Amino acid sequence: MKTPTLQFPPSTPPYTCGADRNEPTKPRILFSSVFGPFARNDEFGSREINPMELYHNQVTRAQGPFSLRMFHRSWGLMMIRENVSAPNSLLDFPTRERFIAELKSEPYNIVAISAIPPNYLKVREMCRLVREIQPSAIIIVGGHISGLPNLKERINADHVVRVEGVSWFREFLGEDVTAPIRHPRIVSGFGTRAMGMDLPDRPGSTAATVIPSVGCPMGCNFCATSAMFGGKGKFLNFYESGDELFDVMCEIERDMKVQTFFVMDENFLLHKKRALRLLERMKRADKSWSLYVFSSANVLRSYTIEQLVALGVSWVWMGLEGNQSKYQKLAGTDTRELVSTLQANGISILGSSIIGLEEHTPENLPDAIEHAVAHDTEFHQFMLYTPVAGTPLFNEHRTNGTLLDPDCEEPADIHGQLRFAHKHPHIPSGMETEFLLQAFRRDFEVNGPSVIRMVRATLRGWNRHSNHPVNRIRRRFRREGAQLRFQYPAVLWAAREWYRDNPVMFRKMDAILNELIAKFGLVARIGASVGGRVVLRKLRAEAANPPSPTPEPSTFYERSSTPAPELTVKQQLSKIQLSVKRPKACTPVGV
Ligand code: SF4
Repeated sequence: MKTPTLQFPPSTPPYTCGADRNEPTKPRILFSSVFGPFARNDEFGSREINPMELYHNQVTRAQGPFSLRMFHRSWGLMMIRENVSAPNSLLDFPTRERFIAELKSEPYNIVAISAIPPNYLKVREMCRLVREIQPSAIIIVGGHISGLPNLKERINADHVVRVEGVSWFREFLGEDVTAPIRHPRIVSGFGTRAMGMDLPDRPGSTAATVIPSVGCPMGCNFCATSAMFGGKGKFLNFYESGDELFDVMCEIERDMKVQTFFVMDENFLLHKKRALRLLERMKRADKSWSLYVFSSANVLRSYTIEQLVALGVSWVWMGLEGNQSKYQKLAGTDTRELVSTLQANGISILGSSIIGLEEHTPENLPDAIEHAVAHDTEFHQFMLYTPVAGTPLFNEHRTNGTLLDPDCEEPADIHGQLRFAHKHPHIPSGMETEFLLQAFRRDFEVNGPSVIRMVRATLRGWNRHSNHPVNRIRRRFRREGAQLRFQYPAVLWAAREWYRDNPVMFRKMDAILNELIAKFGLVARIGASVGGRVVLRKLRAEAANPPSPTPEPSTFYERSSTPAPELTVKQQLSKIQLSVKRPKACTPVGV
């Protein structure tokens, strides 16, 4: 895509931005995610079924009070604003009223909005508001919504960006496109809650997000993220080499006091040279970092387990898609064996399976669900096979005339958690919703709460590697297992009580609890019997009174004068305006 050149009325009041008249004037930019509320039905396409909490939305949605609740910031906008020199503000998760107030109180030359397709009506409304309140502002819209047909005209935007945003903005603003990428300091999640307990957002207790690349060259036909950045064979590195990545991770470690990184790269391990160089540098600098990564199955197999352990891989989001599915990334891999090997080494797995692949029928779907559940991954995402606008799958169905809404006029319910967007060759319309729920319920019924599975994975890692001969690796497993002594026995005791009337699950909880007590002795015993009662009370209270209405993310407001890199986690969190609630819908992702 050719980037247009910026043209704006630089001296038109009130847009005089340079304090010195001789200083070249820079445009003022407002970056914004779409407005909330999100988890309730409204005329702007918010849906109760589609909350902002990623896990609760599409991973642990059937796990009741055990569901992991957590919000994530709009990382793309944070990345872009960090890498332009123009003065700017970021409104993340505003309400509609807060967005209006910002437009009325601050002059902007550019308003940039990021969204996903279900938020189409919100973006259209935001563009209308910009035209009404600041008619000379340039409107730029990006993110996955950019795949919707004829979007620019439909929302009255000036530009719709469907490429990597940092480069596009730099070029548009006349800035140096080749300048090094500065990485924002991003707390990976906030507002974390499970079993009725809020998890502390202390500095260093939450992972930092690092974004080494965008896009994935595997180009699976349904993958919105791959399509967004060019599709098959394409990706873009923000950090080309392991050395560059190591340096930026060291800076983040220093500023945010973290040792755990959520590596937001659709297929991080695919870039093997970079990953192995990172490993070399970690060894040399004695770093015992933990990495949460996305990786496809065959790529994982290309590493030895020793390499993965040494690299600090402790959590993997992996696409399982479906039994004998056609995807190249799975060809020849026994995913159950792979998952089991990784788990035995303390690596937690978030498996991702698709309901409604072409070959699925009402007759074979129960078996497909059983196959997915049999992986016994720590977490399991189930998504409907969905032709998201802009993907090869969407184009294929459009050509075949099998899309239910070919012009995407009503995309609010097309998010993979409710219904198909196309005519399925074998599954009658409406049946998919129940199959999807069946998958979530079956996974929970057979494998139990994900948070307990996480404890089990941590314990396995402790058993295998807490006495590892390499000090750096030993330290990591001991750090990750620090809560095995007291807190986790409390959690297990409460979970065991919860399942008192379910003998199979009771025995499961009991076995893990007994192992913890055998290993950690009196401290674990006290944790179980004292802490367990506290946890059980909270768990029961959560079940009796689930959060209602569904929690919304708080609004964040940051201005370019804010020294964001210096902010601690606590400082970032203190910027939450507690009176304002809201979130965003979830983008289908997969590896
Ligand atoms: S689904 Fe996974 S492997 Fe396939 S293109 Fe997307 S990120 Fe890559």
